[in-house]
Amino acid sequence: MIWNLCKSAMSEFVITGGYVLAPDMKLKRADVAVSSGIITQVGECQSAEQTIDAKNCIVMPGLVNAHTHTPMTLLRGACENLMFEQWQECIWNREAKITPSDVHLGSLLACVEMIKTGTTGFADVYIHMDHAASAIKKSGLRGVLGWGVIEGFGEPLHEKLAHRRAFVRQYNNWADGRITTMYAPHSPSTCSMEALGLLSRMSEEDNVLVTTHLLETRKEAETLKKDNCHLRCLKDTGLLSGRLLAAHSVWANNEDIRILSQHGVSVAHNPISNMKLGVGTAPVTAMLREHVNVCIGTDGAAPGGSMDMFASMRTAALLIRDRGQDTHLQDILKMATVNGAAALGLLAGQIKKGFLADIILVDMKKPHLLGHDPLSALVYSATGSDVKTSMVGGEVLMEDYRIKKIDEENVMERFQKWIDDF
Ligand SMILES: [Zn+2]
Repeated sequence: MIWNLCKSAMSEFVITGGYVLAPDMKLKRADVAVSSGIITQVGECQSAEQTIDAKNCIVMPGLVNAHTHTPMTLLRGACENLMFEQWQECIWNREAKITPSDVHLGSLLACVEMIKTGTTGFADVYIHMDHAASAIKKSGLRGVLGWGVIEGFGEPLHEKLAHRRAFVRQYNNWADGRITTMYAPHSPSTCSMEALGLLSRMSEEDNVLVTTHLLETRKEAETLKKDNCHLRCLKDTGLLSGRLLAAHSVWANNEDIRILSQHGVSVAHNPISNMKLGVGTAPVTAMLREHVNVCIGTDGAAPGGSMDMFASMRTAALLIRDRGQDTHLQDILKMATVNGAAALGLLAGQIKKGFLADIILVDMKKPHLLGHDPLSALVYSATGSDVKTSMVGGEVLMEDYRIKKIDEENVMERFQKWIDDF
C-alpha cells in the first residue's frame, strides 16, 4: 500500500522496493527517502540519484538494545554454569584484570556483532567507558554510555561520583551526537541509598538518564523487602522517574509494577540472561498491561551469550507463551524498537518522517523465513544473520552483509589472541 508521495529530489538516497515495518507495526510497500541522517519521506519514489535496493527485504527500524555491557564480550563463555551470586563473584574477579585497552577491544568486537545482527542503538554500562566510547565512535553505532558505580573498593564515594560526572559531561553528545551518557549505579545491593540519591540528583542536574539493575534477583528483592516496601523504599532517593532505565525487574510485584508505571520508569527485559543465570522470569505481560515502557536487552555477552537482539526477541515471546499468556508479535517488535528508542531518549525506532535514519534491511528470501506471516518470521524464525544492510543516522555501516567502517577480520584476530593470552 502506498500512503505518501516521496519527493526524491530532496533526498541523498532512497531505500527502494522493500516492505516497510510502519509505526503501527504493519508491513506496507513503500520507499524510504533519507537526507542529512533523517528520514525525509516514506512513500513512493519515482527516481533518485542514489538508491539502496531493498527487494525481498523488510525495511525496519534498527533494533535498540536497552541493556548491555559491550566490553563483556571479553568474558563470553567464562564463569559458566553458576547461579547468580557465584557467577557475579567469578566475573568480578576476572574483571579486576581487565585493562582500558582490553575494554576498547571487547567493545569493538561487540560493535561488529551488533552491526551484523541489526542493532543500531544501545545502552551500555561498564568500566573504562572512555575506551569503550572510542570503539563505539569508530563503529558508527549510536550508544548511551554509563560508567558503572559500585561502592567501596577503597575509593571514597565523593571521588567516585566526581569522576563519573566528568565522564558524563565530557562524552555527552560526543561523536556527532551519536554518543550520549548516563549515570549508572550498579544496583541497590551494591550502592547505598545515599549513593542512589546523589546519582539521581546528578542525572537531573545534567539532564541525562540514569540506569541500574533493579530487582534482578530474589536476594536483592529480599534486601529491599526488609521494611516490607520494595520500590517504595527507593522513593526518597529520587531514582524513580522518567529518566530511569531499570534493567531486569524480574522480582517486581504488583505494587512495584504500579510504581514503575506511575513514575514513567522504563524497564529493560533481558530474557536470555535471566534464564541463563537462573534468576527468574520478569512479569512482562503485567508490566505491559500497566503501561510500563518495557524494552528488550541482551545484557552482556557473558550472561546473555550473544548480542543478537533477534534471539532476545524470540526468547521474550517464547517466555510469555510458556506462561500460557498471549503474545502479540507487534508488542515484541515494539519493545525492541519503539520502546527502546523512547527509553534511550532517541527520536528513532520508527520508520517515520523526521525520525533518525537508523534503519536495517532484513533479507526475507531465506528458506527459514518463507511462510504465512512475515511478522511471525521476524519474531520466531529470523536470526541476526538475516540482516543484510544497516545504517545509523543515514550512514551505511553494513551493506550486503559487508561491514564498512571496521576491519572485522583484524578485530577477530586480535580478540582471539587476547583470549589466548588471558
Ligand atoms: Zn547487566
